[in-house]
Amino acid sequence: MKKRNFFILTFLLWGITGFSQYTVNTVPDPKKSGPGFVSNPDNILSNNDVFIIDSLIQEVQDSAKAQIAVVVLQSIGDVVPKTFATELFNYWHVGDAETDNGLLILLVMDQRRVEFETGYGTEQILPDVKCYEIQQNYMVPEFKAGNYGKGLVKGVRVSVNLLLNKSEDIKPMKSTKQTPENTLYNDDSSDNDYHYRSSKLSEFQVFYLTACITAIFLFFVLLLISVFNKDFFARYQILRIFRLYFWFILFPIPFIGIYFWVKFLTEKWRNTPRVSAKTGKIMHKLSETEDDKFLEKGQIAEEIVKSVDYDVWISDEEEDVLIQKYKRRFSKYNACPKCKYKTYYKVYDKVITSATYSSSGTGERLYKCTNCGHSKKIRYTVPKKTRTSSSGSGSSSWSGGSSSWSSGGSSSWGGGSSGGGGAGSSW
Ligand SMILES: [Zn+2]
Repeated sequence: MKKRNFFILTFLLWGITGFSQYTVNTVPDPKKSGPGFVSNPDNILSNNDVFIIDSLIQEVQDSAKAQIAVVVLQSIGDVVPKTFATELFNYWHVGDAETDNGLLILLVMDQRRVEFETGYGTEQILPDVKCYEIQQNYMVPEFKAGNYGKGLVKGVRVSVNLLLNKSEDIKPMKSTKQTPENTLYNDDSSDNDYHYRSSKLSEFQVFYLTACITAIFLFFVLLLISVFNKDFFARYQILRIFRLYFWFILFPIPFIGIYFWVKFLTEKWRNTPRVSAKTGKIMHKLSETEDDKFLEKGQIAEEIVKSVDYDVWISDEEEDVLIQKYKRRFSKYNACPKCKYKTYYKVYDKVITSATYSSSGTGERLYKCTNCGHSKKIRYTVPKKTRTSSSGSGSSSWSGGSSSWSSGGSSSWGGGSSGGGGAGSSW
């Protein structure tokens, strides 16, 4: 009995103290578990902080200017954080082997210490004194207030900007003076998000503008092709793609104008009197009721369900008839497998027996043609329900693009080494 109690006690003690005490070999390597750069095994940082830090680092990683690792540990025992940082840096080989552009940022919570460990290449941009300034001006004040995530985001952001050569003056933090204890958590974590978003937005804006200009270019090309076409029906068909709402939803400026212009042009072309191919005489268009006698039963059925619209042009001559077909783009009617007219639609789609986690269900769809009456009933199986796994979705959802490493596979750092460059600060 006593022996057992002792055993439990040891286990508990090990759980409390030993569990979060890391050695260089036992620090979880983010490269081993996904695309991220942050080792946060004690969950000292929130998911949101990790997300922002990863995004910032990804930017510098993509530029191939540096590789950054962030490690936040509750305890490393009595080991000196600087020694630990150097050893971990060299154990993981942070940074590219050739340019030695690695940077490792280590936080040791119980020793209240932050360390920057730099590769030889990184030291050119981030000499020790600069590392120290970043820590003192951006990180330590936040750490003192208990805002570890915020302090790290700020420190990483300044470092990334310097490494990316975005001019960033290291200025004393204004908020140190005006930070009362009770507003620590709500003052400007949104500020971090803002900076992160703004840099992403500019990339998006470039993409958006390029797409918009391409679309405008396409419009003018098609406009030219259509106005040089003598056939008004062909003109209509060429330019009708710009009658879709899609364009002005996507690019309100200038496509709202283009939309109305195209609408005006295509309507004009649709109603421009046709010239008979046989006689060369001008034809005139029949009204929707007049044209029925020239259309087949299936075509009239299509007009009724509005899947297709027919224009019937006649000249004075007998049997000189021109029928032009305008298909509606978004119609629930499809071509009937039997009569081929666009009058075939889905009457219903219902579940007959629902699927469960243990068994699949069945459903039924009914299709019917309003023209020939042809119908088809389809029974289908509804796949078994699956539980969406919550584990792992956290890390995969923010992984963003695929990360490519400057050298080596995705499961390793670049191969850099450190001679002990960098600086540390206590808080
Ligand atoms: Zn049919």
